[in-house]
Amino acid sequence: MHPTKQEQTAPEPAPRFEQMDPPREPIRRGSTCPQCRQARLDYNGLLNLECPGCGYTEHNGAGCT
Ligand SMILES: [Zn+2]
Repeated sequence: MHPTKQEQTAPEPAPRFEQMDPPREPIRRGSTCPQCRQARLDYNGLLNLECPGCGYTEHNGAGCT
C-alpha cells in the first residue's frame, strides 16, 4: 500500500442533453392544432381530438389495434 497521487475527481455527472426538439410534439387535449396552429384541440363526442377551428381530427388510436 503506497501512497499514490490520486487525482481527486469530483463525481461529476456527465451533462446529458436529451432535449432534442421533436418534430412533432405529442398531441393532446389543449395542444395547438398542428394543421391551422391557431385553435386548440379538444375532445369531441368520439373521444378524438378535434380542432374546432379547421376541423382537424386526431385519432388517438384508442381501442382495438
Ligand atoms: Zn385546426
